[in-house]
Amino acid sequence: MSEKRSNFPLPLSSVTGAGTRKPAAPAPVATPQTATQNARTSQVQTRQAPPPAPRPVAPGTPQPVQPQQTMQRSELAATEAPRRAMAAYVARLGVKDGQVLAALETVPRHMFIESALSSQAYADVSLPIGHNQTISQPYIVARMIELLRGSGQPLRRVLEIGTGCGYQAAVLSCVAQEVYSIERIKPLHELAKANLRPLRIANLRLQYGDGMLGLPQVAPFDGIILAAAGLEVPRALLEQLAIGARLVAPVGAQVQHLQRITRIGKSEWTSETLEACHFVPLRPGIV
Ligand code: SAH
Repeated sequence: MSEKRSNFPLPLSSVTGAGTRKPAAPAPVATPQTATQNARTSQVQTRQAPPPAPRPVAPGTPQPVQPQQTMQRSELAATEAPRRAMAAYVARLGVKDGQVLAALETVPRHMFIESALSSQAYADVSLPIGHNQTISQPYIVARMIELLRGSGQPLRRVLEIGTGCGYQAAVLSCVAQEVYSIERIKPLHELAKANLRPLRIANLRLQYGDGMLGLPQVAPFDGIILAAAGLEVPRALLEQLAIGARLVAPVGAQVQHLQRITRIGKSEWTSETLEACHFVPLRPGIV
């Protein structure tokens, strides 16, 4: 891990520091037996209370996901063991934040992927969601949110760039008071809306647009997460961080590393280059 202090804009060199690649971990085998075993060893003890409703927002800001149908209780119960096993597996990979692990255990990942792939819903793998995009691997979702939370202080307003199917946004909504998520591909924005509707998440707002521009009408944010990798972090996003807030992003092209940037003053940011990762590219404009 390297730590750098720099004035805005962050230099490209800040993305090329050392980072150690996490050894590829085998996907967990989610048999009922191992799921029960994992559940017993899971560090997850508690479930989060539902977060408070977000403050009223000005006209022109993204609208909340409207509940239209609720999720079947039986469907949730049926996936409880694999969800626990997945969270326990991610804990074994090194994610320590109990609230993040609890969030991972809470969100039904199978609801974000097409049914043909549902047997892999609770394996620690990324999966295709259409339009050449993927749902991220649960480990990296958890790790990025853990990095965003740092020493575990509550997150108030968080922005995600790259909604995709909406999974990470749902996990974020368990650990932050208000979550905003932007997607540039219209059919994926619609897919995320449809996936999230049955979950009735009151503190999550989806926006169709170019996330590289951020959401200035809602800024400043206490945290920003990018789910797609650019060669550098867009300037607009750095400017939309509150002072003291963090941004976590994959940075690079063929070789990518997670980068955590903290805004420490009006025009001062620090940057840490962390583990290697692999994300789809961050692209400008809308489709
Ligand atoms: N958050 C997702 C991962 C989605 S994959 C999850 O829960 O697993 C990354 C997404 O970023 C893709 O859907 C892609 O279309 C989107 N993306 C790339 N560039 C973007 C941009 N400039 N603004 C918004 N979304 C972007």
